[in-house]
Amino acid sequence: MADPKGFITTPRQDWPRRPVEERVRDWDEVYVPGALLPLISKQADRCMDCGVPFCHEACPLGNLIPEWNDLVSRDDWRAASDRLHATNNFPEFTGRLCPAPCEAGCVLAINQPAVTIKNVEVAIADRAWADGLTPPRPPDRLSGKTVAVIGSGPTGLAAAQQLTRAGHTVAVYEKDDRIGGLMRYGIPEFKMEKRHLDRRIEQMRAEGTKFRTSTTVGRDVMAGDLRTRYDAVVVATGATEWRELHVPGRELTGIQQAMEYLPLANRVCEGDLVASPMSAAGKHVVIVGGGDTGADCLGTAVRDGAASVTQLDIYAQPATERDEDTDPWPTYPKIYRLSAAHEEARELESAPAADADARLFAASTLRFTGDATGHVRSLHLVEVDARRRPVEGTARALPADLVLLALGFSGPDREDGLVEQLGLALESRGTIARGGGFETNVPGVFAAGDAARGQSLIVWAIAEGRAVAAAVDRHLTGSSRLPTPIGPYDRPMSV
Ligand SMILES: Cc1cc2nc3c(=O)[nH]c(=O)nc-3n(C[C@H](O)[C@H](O)[C@H](O)COP(=O)(O)OP(=O)(O)OC[C@H]3O[C@@H](n4cnc5c(N)ncnc54)[C@H](O)[C@@H]3O)c2cc1C
Ligand code: SF4
Repeated sequence: MADPKGFITTPRQDWPRRPVEERVRDWDEVYVPGALLPLISKQADRCMDCGVPFCHEACPLGNLIPEWNDLVSRDDWRAASDRLHATNNFPEFTGRLCPAPCEAGCVLAINQPAVTIKNVEVAIADRAWADGLTPPRPPDRLSGKTVAVIGSGPTGLAAAQQLTRAGHTVAVYEKDDRIGGLMRYGIPEFKMEKRHLDRRIEQMRAEGTKFRTSTTVGRDVMAGDLRTRYDAVVVATGATEWRELHVPGRELTGIQQAMEYLPLANRVCEGDLVASPMSAAGKHVVIVGGGDTGADCLGTAVRDGAASVTQLDIYAQPATERDEDTDPWPTYPKIYRLSAAHEEARELESAPAADADARLFAASTLRFTGDATGHVRSLHLVEVDARRRPVEGTARALPADLVLLALGFSGPDREDGLVEQLGLALESRGTIARGGGFETNVPGVFAAGDAARGQSLIVWAIAEGRAVAAAVDRHLTGSSRLPTPIGPYDRPMSV
């Protein structure tokens, strides 16, 4: 660290967001362009270079955080980029999208604001691209072995890049028309502009990875054929089987799944559509589900020009401070957080009151009612206690012309027949079963990411992609120099 007293003399400062009234009129990222670099070296200097860096332990990728904080504080961007890319293929994705369990584990966070680790990460990544420090790294020689990766989300991309760089010939099969998985058509542009994704894909193409888009394995290509044609197969198909809400009135029109709504908005940003056929413009929108997918619907509906937006969360409103008994440092605490989208909804003209939250906590949906055409017009709810029992006298109705269900995902989508064609065993919760070495019950077929772990995070997807690549490399060559992030990989985990 350039200044050993940085954590005392420099207060935490985050990458500033653009004013709400400006950013809700476009789809660009919410941050002020160019405002991060001038402040980041001082911020990195707040790192205490702890003897036991809990942040490093808390990052699923084992990112070498104190090392690159030190390098950034000394303005050595080339070395910082090398150390960052040593553990993370796509730091510009995690630097924008990760919930940053590292910051919850930062030693400084015990009694003051954590180091802005995620901001430092994205600053290094963006600077590396701007300075030409991320050229393609094709392998020196080819192994003669071939690998098919099914699915092009962060898991498939990380696995493919690691295996290509190790010298194997890798083809990525993707059923969508574009590469990227949920980062392409789930996560909105205002959280991560897709140009970051496109730039990495170009880098991967230049390294030799082949991409086959609009190809559903199980339908357009038989899964068994891939097994015969390739020396190994990696299944990284995600967990996109959405959960349903079984209440009266669910059959009304205007009640959509979040992942029916969000991809259309993303297609508008890609230039495929002039306007979304499911646009929230002028509508009273209710989002059922208090998680990040719901927040993405909220930000999208606000940009669509919704008349009002309410997000329902079945859980009680969390406390603003960490509860040391249930969520002790350095774990990731369940606390009240205000995302960029929540900030925007609060400032909508139709917001219930200045500073009011668009979220209703401890709210359970009872039923929907509609008009004579069969279109939803109201959502009826009731407040619930901690055991989800209705609280008497709290039932009421909200106006609802568009209802978005964001209730999470149960496991891999089974419609394409891939699981059956390969004869893959499943866990009881519907995810693909695998052993400690990432191999499924079918020899030579490996599973990673949300498909095997269950609904999770980008950082875990990249960690899984890197780990499965090392396992496949070992399977193909008998040993591997590819690193395996620390895990654990044997249980579902969000953060
Ligand atoms: C709306 C939304 C917002 C999110 N926001 C965040 C966030 O801000 N931060 C964060 O960390 N995480 C976020 N997540 C979670 C994160 O996106 C996922 O955990 C991550 O993308 C999982 O990566 P994956 O590669 O395993 O699967 P996916 O990203 O789901 O990719 C799987 C790919 O496989 C393809 N595929 C499936 N079946 C086949 C087949 N038979 N043939 C060919 N291709 C196939 C799919 O089309 C898809 O492209 C969000 C999730 C959603 C839904
Ligand atoms: S990937 Fe996530 S946990 Fe790891 S350093 Fe970046 S923000 Fe922190």
